Amino acid sequence: MKWTAEAESAIKKVPFFVRKRVRARVEKEAADRGKPMVSLADVKATQRRYLNNMESEVRGYQLDTCFGPNGCPRRAVQSDTLLPRIQALLEKEDLLGFLKKTVPGTLRFHHEFRISIADCPNGCSQPQIKDIGILGACVPRVTEEACSRCEACVDACRETAVALAEEDDSGPVIDRERCINCGRCIPVCPTETLATGQQGYRIQLGGKLGRHPRLGMELPGIFSEDDVLRVISGCLAFYKQRSRHGERFAELLSAADFDAYSDRGRFPESDGADPT
Ligand code: SF4
Ligand code: SF4
Ligand code: SF4
Repeated sequence: MKWTAEAESAIKKVPFFVRKRVRARVEKEAADRGKPMVSLADVKATQRRYLNNMESEVRGYQLDTCFGPNGCPRRAVQSDTLLPRIQALLEKEDLLGFLKKTVPGTLRFHHEFRISIADCPNGCSQPQIKDIGILGACVPRVTEEACSRCEACVDACRETAVALAEEDDSGPVIDRERCINCGRCIPVCPTETLATGQQGYRIQLGGKLGRHPRLGMELPGIFSEDDVLRVISGCLAFYKQRSRHGERFAELLSAADFDAYSDRGRFPESDGADPT
């Protein structure tokens, strides 16, 4: 649906963590009224209703993705099947029921558990500042196919992680310390010397903004879809055990808790599942 410039400008002022939800609601309500284009008045009307009924709008969790599923060419993985699986898990966990039992006073959006998926390391959906951030990863693999030394991979890599040895005609060398597994060097290779290796997800835990902001702490490794779901289950178990009065997962997760999970695959006092 098209938006007027004033409407676009107004929606940008809505707090980012509910902007997507409010935007979708504005479009739906405008369409229900038969409007061909969203106007400033439509945004204001929906926003007013939304904020006046905030408690009834809280659903217990926020799950969002980047624009990858809409056709972004930078995708390192296709997370299309992961998203509904996470959504089903969050529904099964009844986070809204949990918040209603534990939060004193009015439920607000900031109580919600936040998960974000980005289909590549660019992280356009800001997974680094969510309770759980999930980033697509595609590890380049050097094959036996002869390299033509065209340097397309060198030019494609923004991390200067791929180089060609100068003294001989061998293939590319990837600096795994610099490589962020974005996969961009793979499709540009005309000889298939570079091919797709492991594909999956990086996972970051405990990111948040607010009074004490922190970027999510990254678990070592690249995880499959099943692994991601197991890690989320473990995190939800930890959260439900520790959150007594509406504290967010990211507030509860200390560096020591993270280290314990990272080393042993379980939180100190929970039955958190093994992520591997
Ligand atoms: S995170 Fe990557 S795949 Fe997703 S929208 Fe951004 S650039 Fe595209
Ligand atoms: S995967 Fe990305 S970061 Fe790694 S070498 Fe290829 S282009 Fe560079
Ligand atoms: S690995 Fe592929 S893209 Fe890189 S220089 Fe060799 S042929 Fe070109």
